[in-house]
Parts: sequence; C-alpha cells; structure tokens
Amino acid sequence: MVLPLLAQPGRGGATMTHVHVNSADPEAAIAFWTGALAVSGYSTGTMSGITMQGGVVLFSKAAPTGPSVGSAIEHIGIRVPDFAPLMARLAKTSYKGSQATPGGPLLIEGPDGVRIEVVEDSDMYTVVEFGHVHVVGPKAVEMPAWYTANLGARPGADDTSVRIGGALWFSKADAVVPTKGRAIDHISVETRDLAAFTKKMGEVGIKLEATDKPKVMAMTDPSGMLIEVSEAQ
Ligand SMILES: [Zn+2]
Ligand SMILES: [Zn+2]
Repeated sequence: MVLPLLAQPGRGGATMTHVHVNSADPEAAIAFWTGALAVSGYSTGTMSGITMQGGVVLFSKAAPTGPSVGSAIEHIGIRVPDFAPLMARLAKTSYKGSQATPGGPLLIEGPDGVRIEVVEDSDMYTVVEFGHVHVVGPKAVEMPAWYTANLGARPGADDTSVRIGGALWFSKADAVVPTKGRAIDHISVETRDLAAFTKKMGEVGIKLEATDKPKVMAMTDPSGMLIEVSEAQ
C-alpha cells in the first residue's frame, strides 16, 4: 500500500495547509523562528515563511493590529524533545519565555505579538514539530462538532480538539476579537472542489467571500477565526 506523503482533503472536507502571520518585518520574524526555534525556512515562490514537521507558517508584510492574545487564535503550539537547547537559543534573543510551572508549557511572546506555546515531549525524534493552532472563544465547546460537520474534521486527542490535517484545540474565553488583521491572521485549508465546498457551506448558512487572491475564498468560524479556502492542486 502506498500512502500519500501529505494529508489529502477527504469526505468533501478540508485540510489545513498553513497558518498565516501578519508581520511588520517578516525577515526578522523568520530569522527568530529559524534561529531560536530551529525550524526551517520555507518559500511558496511568492510568500516567505517557515516549516517544521507537520506545519507551515507564512508571513505577510503587514503590521498587525494587535497581538494574537485577545483574538480568536491565541497561540501556535509546537513541540520540542528538550527545553534546554531552546532556552539557550531564546536567551540570546530579545524575546522572553515564561513557564507557570517548571517543566510545564513554555509561553514565548514572539515577534509581532505572536504567542508560541512550546511543550516538551521526550518521545520525539525530530528537533521541533508543529503541535496545534489554539482557538479560543465563548463557543469553544461547540467548535469540534462544527468542524466535524462542516469541514470533515476528524476527532482529536480529546473532545476539545479536532484534526483537519493539523490539530485545532479549543478553549473557552470570554471576549475575543476576530483574527483578521491580528498577529495570527488566519489558517488556510484546501478542499478538492472549491465550488462544491462553497455551495455546501451556503446550504448550512456559512458564507464564503472572495479574497484579493484568485481562486481563494474566505470564511470566518463562529469563534472569529478567519479561514482561507483554496482548491487542492
Ligand atoms: Zn494564508
Ligand atoms: Zn495550546
């Protein structure tokens, strides 16, 4: 049996392809990610970003209207096998990490107000892996079912998360603002047939709007997370 290298959109659903950050200085932000977090540089040809096992983050040159905290995407989660080398690299930057408990998750307030949550997982083989996009909002409890019904998401590690190619985790938060324009602007998903997907969403009252990019539509989930939708090549 031959398995596809990358997750493919299934069941008429959608698969996450990247997380998109607004940055006043993408080059500096990418240098932080590749330097302190030991991820690799990445380019689509027209957009620059970073990649690691399980995820891609792209950076647009646009000063964010505010940090990720306070918006519907609170942070990006990553995993490393050992905190020590990461801490040593982080100490050489102007960005600081904080831990509520020793050995617990490390929160880094990174460039442009992007919060990065790092957990230590000694079972890993790689230097760094993408973990999850952490979505917060008043409707967190309803979100896994929303993603399962509308985007064909699969069950996550527990009932507060789903997998759509990458993991989305949901936590309750009172007031958050939509992600558009904030430090973490959107996630992007691919679907097999954009016209069919748009029609299916319309039937359940979810409106997709055109973007300034050809063949890319956009929708906002009930938390306020912007989702760009394009057609798989
Ligand atoms: Zn994007
Ligand atoms: Zn998280």
